[in-house]
Amino acid sequence: MSRKPAHIIGLGRSGQAAANWLLLHNWDVVVSDDAGEDKLAAAAQKLQISGAVVCLGGHSEALKVPVDLVVVSPGVPMNHPAILTRLSQGVEVIGELELGWRNSRGAIAAITASNGKSTATALTGEIFAASGRPAFTAGNIGIPLISIAGQTSPDSLIAVEVSSYQLESIKTFKPKAAAILNITPDHLQRHGTFEAYTGAKSRLCMNQDVDDFLIYNADDKIVCDITHGVRSQKIPFSTERQLEFGGWIAGGAMHLSPTKESQHYTLPRSALALPGVHNTQNALAAILSALACGVKWQAIECGVRNFKGLPHRLEFVRRLNGVNWINDSKATNVDSGLTALKALNAPIILIAGGRPKGGGFKDLRPLMKAKVKSLIVLGEAAAEIAADLGDLCSTHFVHNLEEAVHFARQTTAAGDTVLLSPLCASFDMFDNFEQRGDVFKELVGKLES
Ligand code: ADP
Repeated sequence: MSRKPAHIIGLGRSGQAAANWLLLHNWDVVVSDDAGEDKLAAAAQKLQISGAVVCLGGHSEALKVPVDLVVVSPGVPMNHPAILTRLSQGVEVIGELELGWRNSRGAIAAITASNGKSTATALTGEIFAASGRPAFTAGNIGIPLISIAGQTSPDSLIAVEVSSYQLESIKTFKPKAAAILNITPDHLQRHGTFEAYTGAKSRLCMNQDVDDFLIYNADDKIVCDITHGVRSQKIPFSTERQLEFGGWIAGGAMHLSPTKESQHYTLPRSALALPGVHNTQNALAAILSALACGVKWQAIECGVRNFKGLPHRLEFVRRLNGVNWINDSKATNVDSGLTALKALNAPIILIAGGRPKGGGFKDLRPLMKAKVKSLIVLGEAAAEIAADLGDLCSTHFVHNLEEAVHFARQTTAAGDTVLLSPLCASFDMFDNFEQRGDVFKELVGKLES
């Protein structure tokens, strides 16, 4: 069989996975990226060894190659000049998610949101894993769908985290269960307007039909607006009110009943180890997605009870002399800080600081006043945080995270919670939020009782 030519635009994780899959399936592959050798030499070399032609530092050489298919990485917007050139040549252009969908088998539960995507997807994956069926977790969470597509079978269950970037370049992607948790203004530099961003999110369910399910947050007006006119069966969830069917909270339990006719299940909220109303929402969405994919209740209960959460998101590190230490290093903005303060009980010792994202910290004032007993500030934003919030509780400046942990230790009493929720990016002192959280956990781990 003669080999067909394909062009991969963008040599990120998804682009590499797409290239590898195509090379293994009888395609000739040319890959191009705006970035040059300095950034992509290692990835380029690997693909060259596998047989791809790799063009870095621009796309003009790759665009000279006639191809039958273009696969774009999510980082590349659909109005990129290289994509526009390919479209003008009449070539089919799809994203890696679409390629993954076309080549996987089984039921897909796709989850999107402005916040909570990874947590809800990981929980859905945990439930799937408890089902005894072949289970996968993929997508924006870090494992491109195409990289696991070859291992899937008709009875597979696949939890897929989907970003708005990925949704721009789908065509036929049709998940059995689609879940939309919330939509707030985000990524406007890529999508241009909030309407365009919302439009991208709504593509999650655009190919669904009456045999599919759309699980949506009935407390979020923007999300509700998206559900008008969709063909799939709509399953609402709410943490604010009791519903006729769907998912809701009452009497300290999660209630689940995907349709008016279906069985009514309950699970104590305490079965989920993760704190906060936001995590209740994530759990309701994950459970309803699993029910929509035909997972048995026993496996759902088991998956929820097993789920420990993801690192760096309100991650419980240690209880030491009656004090809980929590790593929320992923909280790189004020909104995430608010979510953390809402979720935890007072009294809190808050460690915050890093590279500020602009906009100040005053939105935190009411919750700070209600719950935070002392504030420890560090990094480039230290003075600004202290200026915006320092009058509400005792406030201390430290030079680094080590000093912050030791200072916090000295000021705690049994019953307190020490929370690293930086409200800022990490780049002034760390490579990324993961490294910041890992350093925090190591320092806390070394504290002696
Ligand atoms: P994402 O993958 O969308 O970035 P994560 O699951 O990694 O989301 O969570 C990132 C942060 O988003 C959390 O630390 C928390 O502050 C916030 N968050 C998580 N779930 C929700 C939710 N359902 N609603 C609002 N905020 C949430």
